[in-house]
This record gives sequence, structure tokens and C-alpha cells, in this order.
Amino acid sequence: MLDRLPEFVDPVSFAEKRRQLVGKYNVVDLKRLHDNLFKTDGIVDVEFVFGKSGRQLVLEGAICTELFLVCQNCLSGLHKPIEIRFKLALVFSEDQLNKLSLDYEPLLISDEKLSLKSVVEDEILLVLPDFPKHETCHGVDHVLQSSVEIDNEQKRESPFSVLADFKVSKEDK
Ligand SMILES: [Zn+2]
Repeated sequence: MLDRLPEFVDPVSFAEKRRQLVGKYNVVDLKRLHDNLFKTDGIVDVEFVFGKSGRQLVLEGAICTELFLVCQNCLSGLHKPIEIRFKLALVFSEDQLNKLSLDYEPLLISDEKLSLKSVVEDEILLVLPDFPKHETCHGVDHVLQSSVEIDNEQKRESPFSVLADFKVSKEDK
């Protein structure tokens, strides 16, 4: 059903050949995201464009999905559309890292196999908020709201009791 993407690619060969890949992942298969998710339904659309910028081997691409994060206020699901464009430079040494153009984030290649899934997980983890929260959250705020109402009721009672006391003391005179 899903467009099959290779689990691993040879990044150098792909960049030299300027290979392009388009496909999808199931969110349920992107396991490194799961700690951040309320539910693992959904699909991630991805596009990878290998190539060269001058002599630099690069991997550019896009990630598009809709995730359900956990609202840190009420602990229920929080809908979060995600759209990422990334520009990565394939880097093989520290020397090369230092010479890197600012347009590109380094992607350290230590193996001739590159896991595309892990690139996608890394890019998504980078953009997830540290403290996701509904813009209008009805969870804990709602609990606070009811305690405010109780407070108000107590305050509403107190003027009467003060008045009652006042009356009593007045009648006493
Ligand atoms: Zn919430």
C-alpha cells in the first residue's frame, strides 16, 4: 500500500547519481517519535533529493505529516501539522564540517549505509516543541476554573455572614 522506500541507501552513490525518492512511512514505524506521541496513527510523506552543491554532496528533501502530540497541560491529544524542508550536507570528517556552507546542516556519514528513516526521525524530533500545549486547553484550566468558582461561592457567602453579624451586633445595642 505504501510507496516502498529502501531501508538503507549508499549516500555517496545516491548523491553522485542525483537520485530522488518519494515515499511514505507509517508513523507507527517511526519508533523514536513514539515517546512524544498521544497516538501513533498516521502517515508521513517524504521526499529525498540527493545531489551536489558545488563539490559538496547533499541531501535535500521534505517531510509532511500530522502528528498527535501529548498536551502537557491536560495530557490529551494535540493535533500538530508538520511541514519540514531540510538541507543536509554529507560530512565525512571534522575538517569537512568546519568548511561547511551555512545553508546546510551537517549529516555525519560514518558508514556507507544511511538509514533514511532515521533522517526523518531526526528532522521531526528537531521541530517538536519542548512543551506542547493546546492553544485553548480545557484540561487543567478547566479544573482551575472550577476551583475559582468554589472560591467565588465562598466569597459570595461571606458578605452575607458579615452582614448577618453586623445585624446581630446592631440589634444587640
Ligand atoms: Zn490540553
